[in-house]
Amino acid sequence: MGTASASANPVRHTSAHVVTVHNHRFLVDCGEGCQMSLQQCGIPFSWIDNILISHLHGDHLFGIFGLLSTMAMQGRTAPLYIYAPAGFKVMLDFFYDQFADGVKYDINFRPLEMKGKEQIIQMRSLTVSAFPLNHRVPTFGFLFEEKAPLRNIRKELIERDNLTLTEIGALKRGEDVRRGRKKLKAEDYTYIPYIPRRLAYCCDTAPFKQLPEWIAGADLVYHDSTYADDYEDHARKYCHSTSRMAAQTAKDAGARQLILGHFSARYKDLQPMLAQARELFPDTYLAEEQHKYEIPLNRMN
Ligand SMILES: [Zn+2]
Ligand SMILES: [Zn+2]
Repeated sequence: MGTASASANPVRHTSAHVVTVHNHRFLVDCGEGCQMSLQQCGIPFSWIDNILISHLHGDHLFGIFGLLSTMAMQGRTAPLYIYAPAGFKVMLDFFYDQFADGVKYDINFRPLEMKGKEQIIQMRSLTVSAFPLNHRVPTFGFLFEEKAPLRNIRKELIERDNLTLTEIGALKRGEDVRRGRKKLKAEDYTYIPYIPRRLAYCCDTAPFKQLPEWIAGADLVYHDSTYADDYEDHARKYCHSTSRMAAQTAKDAGARQLILGHFSARYKDLQPMLAQARELFPDTYLAEEQHKYEIPLNRMN
């Protein structure tokens, strides 16, 4: 929904992203204009039950109160969960005091205060972890991890060995099955249909030692790329990253793909920034507004 850094401009909105895992949709950051972008993308607000705010800089946050108000005007009753740094509580209290007359839904605030990587959301099909980043204020990154799917049965073996429904159920859960003295091993009769996918969100941040470990093996990394090489000094001064720094982190993490975002408005042409990242990490792409990126399934059969 938004790929710009500090200030919105006619071409780019400030940070906001929708992450869809199976039927769950998460709003990650909520910069100004997020409501409009969601509507332009045909994403109903009722689909969003969890909002994750990385840090309390306006470019990641200024859209949330408008969104909360519109949700109320639309008659929302389903509870909403907001994960944000602890300081967000004061802002939410102010919103409740001043603007919450028509709010008929519960807003459940979960403060992010961890010093390392911690799981914050656990659902049937996925988990979400948060971890601290290296920015000027308390900032958190997020790792979305799909859970391992149920194993698939090798169909040709059902008939060969006359497997019963009970046996098939157990094998699919990964349990071995006893038949007298013989043991049917789940790993022989089943296979994992696909490898669970992982998405890491790292914005805003300067590089730091633990980051590649915390996002190791991610299929897709969305990373702060505020500057190109020419403003490396700014990246260091303001605790952001250049595209090359983002690429180094993705490389060290053994990631599969990298998406650069949070671009400074000073860059009209982002191609040099992309080229610099690709020198280190070829599978790098520029984030585009209102564009959908899909992590392909890595099927095992
Ligand atoms: Zn920012
Ligand atoms: Zn920031």
